[in-house]
Amino acid sequence: MNKEKGEVVLPGDEIATSEEYIAGAGTYEEDGKIISSQVGTVEYNDDELIVSTKPLNPVVEIERGDIVLGVVTMVRDTMVVIDIKKVEGKDREIAGDTSGTIHVSKASQAYVKDLKKEFKIGDYVRAKVIQAKPSVQLTTGYPEYGVVKALCSKCRGPMVRKGTMVYCPNCERTETRKISSMYGKMRDI
Ligand SMILES: [Zn+2]
Repeated sequence: MNKEKGEVVLPGDEIATSEEYIAGAGTYEEDGKIISSQVGTVEYNDDELIVSTKPLNPVVEIERGDIVLGVVTMVRDTMVVIDIKKVEGKDREIAGDTSGTIHVSKASQAYVKDLKKEFKIGDYVRAKVIQAKPSVQLTTGYPEYGVVKALCSKCRGPMVRKGTMVYCPNCERTETRKISSMYGKMRDI
């Protein structure tokens, strides 16, 4: 039976028969069968009756200078831990360890006394990678970096920016954050 469009195949997997289709990129023909030569997804061109495979997206390595988007998973006295979800401009899955830390000295342009007033668990943060190895270190010490979506610490609902603070319309409360100039402007979150 033929593999379906979009199905993931491994090298050596039979995709279709050469009676029906021509072997395209990422495939070869053997004994009347079209076989995948790589790990990829199946593509059919039904106009030209070509079957091919497209390699699965390679994973992204986090590099120094990258701008990342992540979620706060822990806030300590001297550092914040971020689970990095995305590298800007690289729309692929991230390889390896996805956690990064922001040291208190790199959190803001201004002096930060208490990180718990700048970040809360569940907040989305946009940050820049200042070190990629052996551990990922981030900075939010520029206006464009910091919290881009804050969750209310009472009801966990999304908060709106109000000047230099964030406000929960649900609870009618304000909270402080290290707010990014991109607050509320990011797509996909
Ligand atoms: Zn609330």
